[in-house]
Amino acid sequence: MLHLLNPPQRAAVQYLSGPCLVLAGAGSGKTRVITQKIAYLIEEAQMDARNIAAITFTNKAAREMQERVATLLPPARLKGLTVSTFHSLGMRILREEAGHLGYKQKFSILDSADAAKIIADQLVTTDKSLIRSTVSQISTLKSDRISPDQALTMAASEGELQLAKLYRAYQDTLFAYQAIDFDDLIRLPVDLFEANPEVLQKWQHRLRYLLIDEYQDTNTTQYQLVKQLTELTGQFTAVGDDDQSIYAWRGANVENLNLLRVDFPKLHVIKLEQNYRSVARILRCANAVISNNPKLFEKQLWSDLGVGDLVQVVETKGDEDEAKTVAFRLKQHMALNGTSFADYAVLYRGNFQSRIIEAQLRAENIPYVMSGGQSFFDNAEIKDVLAYLHLISNDDDEPAFIRAVTTPKRGVGNVTLERLGNYAKDREISLFAAVFEEGFIHQVQPAQYDVLHTFCKFIQRMQDKVKSEPADQLYRELLGAIDFETWLYESEEPKPAETKWKNILDLGEMIKRKVDSAGSNLDEITQNFDLRIMLEGRSEDEIDAVRLSTLHASKGLEYPHVFLIGCEEDILPHQNSIETGMVEEERRLMYVGITRAQRTLTITYCGKRKRAGEWQITRPSRFLDELPPDDVSFSGRLSAKYEPPADIKKEHSGLAAKMLALLNAKSSK
Ligand code: ATP
Ligand code: MG
Repeated sequence: MLHLLNPPQRAAVQYLSGPCLVLAGAGSGKTRVITQKIAYLIEEAQMDARNIAAITFTNKAAREMQERVATLLPPARLKGLTVSTFHSLGMRILREEAGHLGYKQKFSILDSADAAKIIADQLVTTDKSLIRSTVSQISTLKSDRISPDQALTMAASEGELQLAKLYRAYQDTLFAYQAIDFDDLIRLPVDLFEANPEVLQKWQHRLRYLLIDEYQDTNTTQYQLVKQLTELTGQFTAVGDDDQSIYAWRGANVENLNLLRVDFPKLHVIKLEQNYRSVARILRCANAVISNNPKLFEKQLWSDLGVGDLVQVVETKGDEDEAKTVAFRLKQHMALNGTSFADYAVLYRGNFQSRIIEAQLRAENIPYVMSGGQSFFDNAEIKDVLAYLHLISNDDDEPAFIRAVTTPKRGVGNVTLERLGNYAKDREISLFAAVFEEGFIHQVQPAQYDVLHTFCKFIQRMQDKVKSEPADQLYRELLGAIDFETWLYESEEPKPAETKWKNILDLGEMIKRKVDSAGSNLDEITQNFDLRIMLEGRSEDEIDAVRLSTLHASKGLEYPHVFLIGCEEDILPHQNSIETGMVEEERRLMYVGITRAQRTLTITYCGKRKRAGEWQITRPSRFLDELPPDDVSFSGRLSAKYEPPADIKKEHSGLAAKMLALLNAKSSK
């Protein structure tokens, strides 16, 4: 096993005498160290897989790591191994220990849209940017591990006091709903461990070795959790790269790298310098760009994968032309190199940039999959039926109750819901429980009462079947009972209704697969925060399709050929970051983007872009000036032989257009 590693990697894997930090640049095999070390701990150090937890940054990364480890060891040896995100680990702890916090074991997980809804209700506003900023400020407080009470005492201005009060009210609502939001999945376990040393001990005993990937992006709360779990033995390995810290806006604290040395004086630091991902030119571009940031730690990266092609920097006329250029170059490259769609990725700074690329790829029949964007599970119809499933599992789940009782429309009005809400609040019971109370019957119109009562009886009947019926059968019964298909076709145009119904059936298929493979009942399925991973399986990775991703979501991944689009001032670096002095973080984002590429890298920017309906001349990103001229071929304003836009037009209508036609003819055959 160890022969797959270079000497410093091997040293990192074999080091078991205490805390270990691998600090190294992109593509140097940090993640590989983690996967190999898991196998090493089990095979060589004779540890039980149940006592090992590897923590990754995204669900996708967790899945990939699980797959990689599975190629190293037989399944029996891996039984009980934890490979998950901080959030999933927090959820697992809470599912077991929620009682200590006054929560039921079957609490619900609140997604960001539901959280925003609660805040909107409290603020009595529809102002999206106000809601968004409030949600993010509360989230920041949580990442910094500040409780509502602390926020109230610390408030130094009227604005801060208002925010603290909202935070308090928001937490109270969550508790009333028996719901936990993403930030609390980590904050609450830390609180819990602090208040209950014996519970902490149990978990310290259970998770005896921790491995943490992408350590530079942990926030204060996550760091606390690591510290708590490892404080006795210091048995952990963290790997990270300060140059890839790109989540400061979400509370990540790269200072945690330094804190490790302070908190663990025995910390053993290992550096890796050989890059195994990218050809030399790409690496030189990455090194050159990042050298403009002040250094926390000195690092040198080199690779022996050959020099590679010149990095292409291409000016396009506007975003549509940019999309066409990407599609054209991609097809051209495929035709010349016999590569597959899955060898290509298009990376961008903001989600808004994907729409035009998507349209162009669809128009040219180029298959693509998107990550870091809208998920299947964000579709309204999926959230609708999931609300039913969640309510069946946890009838205290108020957002689920409200969504389910109003979808499909049953004629329950807002006034009725408000009275129900008030009644339940006064008695400190759930909406669901309130419906069954004598005292509630006369609070609302008899007809309205009947609807509510029938609805809750129906949910109860479904609850009774959870243990005895397979989840997929229950799901089908549910759809039939609420006549969801008819409702979809009545409330939508035929085409969208058809798409939505297909999604509903796909969800049924996913549930069925889960039942067939693991025999799960509905409770087990809904109570799992990893619902998405669990149900989606890994089909996305198996499809031969171009990858579309935000730069943030591309972290840790690699692709043979990368297009990095929209490299303009105000986009990358982002306007907000320029205004708030966060250009260094944007430069790290650029570094992350460049270092995803293995063999070729094409960077594009638009000569002009439509803003608020008006064409504006754009400025190429300052990061393009930082690229080493010897490794880059520029075309457009940045090239020495600058061609005016008219010539660019000619190029596209001439040779390029002919080639495009040829290729199109070829690919449609
Ligand atoms: P990032 O900073 O982007 O997360 P990383 O440091 O985690 O990168 P890995 O993803 O672990 O790097 O490795 C990059 C690539 O190099 C992978 O394809 C990996 O399989 C390969 N690799 C790592 N170490 C070696 C090695 N010793 N020999 C051959 N290939 C290696
Ligand atoms: Mg990695």
